[in-house]
Amino acid sequence: MTTAVGEASEKPAVFIDEAKIKETLEEARSYRSRRVRDALAKARELKGLDAPEIAALMEVDDPVLLDELFSIARWVKEEIYGNRLVLFAPLYISNLCKNECTYCAFRARNRELKRRVLTQDEIAAEVKALIDQGHKRLLLVAGESYPKEGFNYILRAIDTIYRTRSARGEIRRVNVNIAPLTVEQFRELKDAKIGTFQLFQETYHRDTYAKVHLAGPKRDYDWRVTSFDRAMEAGIDDVGIGVLFGLYDWKFELLAMHQHIRHLEEKFGVGPHTISMPRMEPAVGSATAMHPPHPVSDLDFKKIVAILRLAVPYTGMIMSTRENAETRRATFALGISQISAGSRCNPGGYTESVNPHDAEQFQLGDHRSLDEVVRDIASLGYTPSFCTACYRLGRTGADFMDLAKPGLIKEHCVPNALSSCTEYLLNYATPETREVGEKLVDHNLKFMEPWVGEIARGLVGRARANERDVFV
Ligand code: SAM
Ligand code: SF4
Repeated sequence: MTTAVGEASEKPAVFIDEAKIKETLEEARSYRSRRVRDALAKARELKGLDAPEIAALMEVDDPVLLDELFSIARWVKEEIYGNRLVLFAPLYISNLCKNECTYCAFRARNRELKRRVLTQDEIAAEVKALIDQGHKRLLLVAGESYPKEGFNYILRAIDTIYRTRSARGEIRRVNVNIAPLTVEQFRELKDAKIGTFQLFQETYHRDTYAKVHLAGPKRDYDWRVTSFDRAMEAGIDDVGIGVLFGLYDWKFELLAMHQHIRHLEEKFGVGPHTISMPRMEPAVGSATAMHPPHPVSDLDFKKIVAILRLAVPYTGMIMSTRENAETRRATFALGISQISAGSRCNPGGYTESVNPHDAEQFQLGDHRSLDEVVRDIASLGYTPSFCTACYRLGRTGADFMDLAKPGLIKEHCVPNALSSCTEYLLNYATPETREVGEKLVDHNLKFMEPWVGEIARGLVGRARANERDVFV
């Protein structure tokens, strides 16, 4: 039976077991380094980790063991994903919200924020600006309150994004990060051809959840934590999980998120497609964001990325522009597979020259343009990828997980990354970025295994001959 939006769920969701998490954390404190090494050895098998193994790794602070943890995370990332980084941009269409999340500038009672709901024409203008930068993937984001037409506003916005064309290209994949929906609404979202439905639990700790969600439908922990169950029931098999780090103890959050992932795998045969790891950033008029109760240090943040990479090796990991360039660079090699670039988090931010702080959700850490980020990551040896092939060929959910085995990723994702990167370099990049990028593409083509090299050279050759949207 489906519960209506915001209606209190009858029974609490049972798959987050707080007592069990506390027990595992306490046991882990007495683990010796051998337990850590056993967990690291298991991670090398690329089969993921169980809760006690994750807990053992979370307790690591000895520099030698930390080095081992980081170097195995780098190895796993390289083995499965190679040097690709998939790029996207968020598109904020509205900052209206009926919830009172104490950490977010969009919260209902915040008088310091200028409210803004984009019309479909304004959305199209933003999309054109993003296409002209070279983006192919967008993440639609909105507060939980829609104009008079209700949820239909979101559906129309997705349609507007897909239908917007510029002489220079089009958006090929729209992911969404919006409030929880009913099964029926999820079906409509699927029909609108979204890529991933992304939703962060913020904190899995019930008491903390109650303290920071003061009003509105988001107060209902269970309605939120069961969102992916409803999405999957409606046939959406690409979901993106996440926690807002800073609200509660990150060690508890990792184990709880692991329980959530295992729950989805057991019930639906597939876990989340991506994990996001937002750290709380300052937000206008929002006290919690100015003083996070459990701030996560840069070192712990690197540990989170590395441990997640080992715990769920085939799940993509997203690093947003909340983080500054330095932190982003330090975490790519540890397991990140997708990054945002050139982002704005105020509705209208890509076309209007207003003071972004008046309407933005939080302060960004990385203000560089897409071109600068592409140049930076290419000069570090990462291939910027704008690929959208899997989703358009129906390789999603369990099919994607089957594909996400090292050999198959090499066969599809690596050539597609190089051809979509080439398309970007030829059509959107500055001469400086094009030079760095083309060297990187040539270098990759030269040193690839011959059988993949043949596929990749074919695709890159077609892209260099000005054929667009070539993929396998
Ligand atoms: N309103 C919907 C919701 O809350 O799920 C979707 C959009 S909300 C704008 C997207 C995410 O932004 C939230 O899930 C939260 O994790 C994150 N967020 C909110 N305030 C933040 C802050 N101060 N710093 C970093 N991320 C924040
Ligand atoms: Fe609204 Fe989402 Fe911000 Fe909460 S996090 S105030 S629900 S936009």
